[in-house]
Amino acid sequence: MKITVVGAGAMGSLFGGLLAERGHEVTLVDVNAAHLQAIQSQGLRLHTDQSDRHIRALRACRPDEADGVPDLVLVFTKTLHTASALAGVAHLIGPETHVLSLQNGLGNVEVISQHAALGRILLGVTTWPADLVGPGHVHSHGQGVVRLMSADGRDRPFVATVAQALDEAGLACTVDAAVWTAIWEKVAFNAALNSICTATQCTVDQLGAIDDGPALAFCVVDEVLAVAQAQGVTVHADACKARVADAIGRHVGHKPSMLQDVLAGRRTEIESINGAVVAAAAAHDIPVPCTRTLLQIVRLVQARQAGTAPAGSVIH
Ligand code: NAD
Repeated sequence: MKITVVGAGAMGSLFGGLLAERGHEVTLVDVNAAHLQAIQSQGLRLHTDQSDRHIRALRACRPDEADGVPDLVLVFTKTLHTASALAGVAHLIGPETHVLSLQNGLGNVEVISQHAALGRILLGVTTWPADLVGPGHVHSHGQGVVRLMSADGRDRPFVATVAQALDEAGLACTVDAAVWTAIWEKVAFNAALNSICTATQCTVDQLGAIDDGPALAFCVVDEVLAVAQAQGVTVHADACKARVADAIGRHVGHKPSMLQDVLAGRRTEIESINGAVVAAAAAHDIPVPCTRTLLQIVRLVQARQAGTAPAGSVIH
């Protein structure tokens, strides 16, 4: 397959690198000049539990340098950059090109549908972890899975082709008609842990210091899953809360990506997680006070970090 990865940071590099190793024609498209240059000169350094190697059989370039029409565009920007990233590669998306998003959050299909018909959009979730540890250098450890489906819910042959390609690349991928369940449960998990950690600057395990931490997280999970159910999505609250409790118990020292983004002065994915839940809740008239308050606090934290909040104001 001819595959263009748009947003080749931690996840895009991991997926693009593994697909290239399986013989697919992969182009990594990104705007991070140092990362692109490192891959162009030394290949992509991929450090997994199995090995630490350089993958050279792929191309890496800026959006305006990318050419040719791929069979598949794999979108792996942070959600706040999806619209601009797809606009930057719009010249690559032909009538037969499919677009796959495994990004976190809600609203990904809506953004992609500006560039591709619903029947050519694939969406899913992945539990693979990845970190960009330096330019051209990605680290992934442990095990994950990928679940995907066609955005229009239909049984389409190309979806199985993509799933097979990802599976053969070692990414444990299955076609799954219940992807919306997994998406909403992951949104609930992230809406709770990412936003509370970002608002409090606690690591995930520190939320367990007092009962209020898990209690607030479970409150957010209940709110998010109530909205999912109002949208007609089947969800499993007990299993989702068990994953949240497990993370608080075991993810010692872990800073969720949203907290890492704030600490690095970057904008976060809060709008496509808590923000999208609050918007969907309003449409169904469902109260989501904890999710909304955390959204507002993270927006404030983000504004302060970005320097858009007044500096040094004194409250008299
Ligand atoms: P990342 O920040 O490492 O990578 C995103 C990349 O997009 C960056 O390299 C950035 O330069 C690039 N980018 C930004 N604007 C662009 C543009 N206009 N054109 C092209 N490229 C552009 O992020 P990530 O950790 O790989 O996460 C990507 C998505 O996957 C997010 O939605 C995240 O929530 C989700 N996710 C991440 C993980 C993880 O462990 N990292 C796991 C599951 C899901």
